Amino acid sequence: MSERGRLLLERQPEVRVTCPNDGWTFAPRYTDGRCPIDGWEAPVDVAPPRLARIDWFWPALIAMAIVSILMGVLVVLAYVRA
Ligand SMILES: [Zn+2]
Repeated sequence: MSERGRLLLERQPEVRVTCPNDGWTFAPRYTDGRCPIDGWEAPVDVAPPRLARIDWFWPALIAMAIVSILMGVLVVLAYVRA
Protein backbone atom coordinates (compact mmCIF):
# COMPACT_ATOMS: atom_id res chain seq x y z
CA MET A 1 0.00 0.00 0.00
CA SER A 2 1.23 3.51 -0.74
CA GLU A 3 2.56 5.74 1.98
CA ARG A 4 -0.38 8.13 1.53
CA GLY A 5 -2.95 5.33 1.78
CA ARG A 6 -1.33 4.00 4.93
CA LEU A 7 -1.40 7.49 6.48
CA LEU A 8 -5.11 7.80 5.67
CA LEU A 9 -6.00 4.47 7.29
CA GLU A 10 -3.85 4.69 10.39
CA ARG A 11 -5.45 6.14 13.49
CA GLN A 12 -3.85 9.20 14.94
CA PRO A 13 -2.39 8.47 18.37
CA GLU A 14 -4.61 9.61 21.24
CA VAL A 15 -3.53 13.05 22.44
CA ARG A 16 -3.49 13.39 26.22
CA VAL A 17 -2.65 16.49 28.23
CA THR A 18 -2.23 17.10 31.93
CA CYS A 19 -3.85 20.14 33.53
CA PRO A 20 -1.23 22.24 35.34
CA ASN A 21 -3.74 23.38 37.98
CA ASP A 22 -4.97 20.03 39.28
CA GLY A 23 -2.71 17.43 37.62
CA TRP A 24 -5.64 15.74 35.89
CA THR A 25 -4.70 13.92 32.67
CA PHE A 26 -7.42 13.83 30.04
CA ALA A 27 -8.04 13.46 26.30
CA PRO A 28 -8.99 17.00 25.13
CA ARG A 29 -10.74 15.58 22.05
CA TYR A 30 -13.69 14.49 24.22
CA THR A 31 -13.93 17.60 26.40
CA ASP A 32 -13.83 20.42 23.79
CA GLY A 33 -10.18 20.97 24.69
CA ARG A 34 -11.00 21.95 28.27
CA CYS A 35 -10.11 20.36 31.59
CA PRO A 36 -13.25 18.66 32.95
CA ILE A 37 -12.46 19.83 36.49
CA ASP A 38 -11.61 23.53 36.23
CA GLY A 39 -12.08 24.38 32.54
CA TRP A 40 -8.40 25.02 31.79
CA GLU A 41 -8.01 25.21 28.01
CA ALA A 42 -5.45 22.77 26.59
CA PRO A 43 -3.12 24.24 23.93
CA VAL A 44 -4.01 21.59 21.33
CA ASP A 45 -6.12 21.61 18.18
CA VAL A 46 -9.28 19.59 18.87
CA ALA A 47 -11.11 20.31 15.60
CA PRO A 48 -12.32 17.07 13.99
CA PRO A 49 -11.04 16.15 10.51
CA ARG A 50 -12.64 18.10 7.64
CA LEU A 51 -14.65 15.12 6.34
CA ALA A 52 -16.04 14.43 9.80
CA ARG A 53 -17.43 17.97 10.07
CA ILE A 54 -19.72 17.61 7.03
CA ASP A 55 -23.31 16.49 7.58
CA TRP A 56 -23.54 13.60 5.12
CA PHE A 57 -27.32 13.06 5.39
CA TRP A 58 -28.50 15.05 2.35
CA PRO A 59 -25.56 14.17 0.05
CA ALA A 60 -26.08 10.47 0.87
CA LEU A 61 -29.85 10.72 0.35
CA ILE A 62 -29.41 12.43 -3.03
CA ALA A 63 -26.79 9.86 -4.11
CA MET A 64 -29.10 7.00 -3.14
CA ALA A 65 -32.02 8.60 -5.02
CA ILE A 66 -29.88 8.95 -8.17
CA VAL A 67 -28.64 5.36 -7.93
CA SER A 68 -32.17 4.11 -7.34
CA ILE A 69 -33.50 5.98 -10.41
CA LEU A 70 -30.60 4.57 -12.48
CA MET A 71 -31.44 1.06 -11.28
CA GLY A 72 -35.08 1.57 -12.19
CA VAL A 73 -34.10 2.75 -15.68
CA LEU A 74 -31.79 -0.28 -16.11
CA VAL A 75 -34.52 -2.69 -15.03
CA VAL A 76 -37.05 -1.11 -17.45
CA LEU A 77 -34.47 -1.20 -20.28
CA ALA A 78 -33.62 -4.85 -19.59
CA TYR A 79 -37.33 -5.71 -19.51
CA VAL A 80 -38.16 -3.85 -22.72
CA ARG A 81 -35.17 -5.16 -24.70
CA ALA A 82 -35.32 -8.79 -23.63
ZN1 LIG B 1 -7.85 21.32 35.55
